[in-house]
Amino acid sequence: MYRNLRTNIPKEVMSFPDFPFEKHLPSFVHHTEVRNYLEKYCDHFRLRDHIQFNTMVDSVKPVQEKRGWHGLAWDITTTDGISKTKSITERFDAVMVCNGHFYDPYIPAIPGLKNFTGMLMHSHDYRNPEPFSGKSVVLLGAGLSGLDIAMELSSVDAQVILSHRQRPLTCTLPKGVQQAPPVKRVLEDGMLQFQDGRLAKPEVFLFCTGYNFTFPFLDSKLGLHVQEHLVSPLYKFLMPRRFPPSSLWASAELSAPSLTSIARSSLYSLSWMDPLPCHPVRRWNRMWRWISP
Ligand SMILES: Cc1cc2nc3c(=O)[nH]c(=O)nc-3n(C[C@H](O)[C@H](O)[C@H](O)COP(=O)(O)OP(=O)(O)OC[C@H]3O[C@@H](n4cnc5c(N)ncnc54)[C@H](O)[C@@H]3O)c2cc1C
Repeated sequence: MYRNLRTNIPKEVMSFPDFPFEKHLPSFVHHTEVRNYLEKYCDHFRLRDHIQFNTMVDSVKPVQEKRGWHGLAWDITTTDGISKTKSITERFDAVMVCNGHFYDPYIPAIPGLKNFTGMLMHSHDYRNPEPFSGKSVVLLGAGLSGLDIAMELSSVDAQVILSHRQRPLTCTLPKGVQQAPPVKRVLEDGMLQFQDGRLAKPEVFLFCTGYNFTFPFLDSKLGLHVQEHLVSPLYKFLMPRRFPPSSLWASAELSAPSLTSIARSSLYSLSWMDPLPCHPVRRWNRMWRWISP
């Protein structure tokens, strides 16, 4: 999370319908306001008492349980997130996996990357532009983070090459920012070679290339695979197919909290009322249409 980060979705869209953001705030709020909002939401609905903080989930395992729903339950092993000394396993009826996907940086396999001798970093570790003042930077990726960070670096007179595989941006670029196609390889002398043959030897090579999906705590019995940012096999990108819908997946995309979380929680409640049949497609398609925004 970087210092100057503001939301790119208006508060009116991001808020839960039963708890609006404060009126005096602008539509695109600073990230600290999102935190304030979530804390106030928690206080208002007295959620804190129901949350066990500082707890690391180490393993999620499906187990047979006679009294469980569809004869199934989930053994969850956790450790105390601070001292990591206390490890306990408890049995639950259902699991929702909401571990996010913005913490395991994705670094593309660029041939010769080990030859790069400058500073190599990912947007995950970017906080503020000042350390880049006057520096030469190749910024890989022109997604939301890449564009945001390019603007910030321009404000401290960094010389930025924004390397990306989209069609060239046609807008006026900020001062000191130019575009290039993707980096093809890093040569033995540490020089970056772009796909159009251009060369550059920047002080900083900054990856704004997104994140990997990772579920290190999931038992292999779930049979889930992550390949090229796709988690499968999942019914509707949410539920493991080989199990009744007693786990749900909130990991699929960048999202404003309201619509998707509500859709997901509704789906969750419905799943309790109306268990997933063996051949679920038609019935679940109908339900999905009903709750989809
Ligand atoms: C730079 C940036 C800007 C963004 N701007 C916006 C925006 O303007 N508007 C918007 O709507 N969205 C925005 N997003 C996306 C938004 O942050 C996500 O959609 C949202 O945080 C997803 O919420 P989540 O609860 O699914 O996951 P997260 O907020 O990522 O929360 C997951 C939590 O699970 C915890 N966790 C992970 N593994 C374990 C484990 N094994 N045991 C215990 N806990 C675990 C993590 O520590 C984390 O606290 C932005 C994202 C980024 C990176």
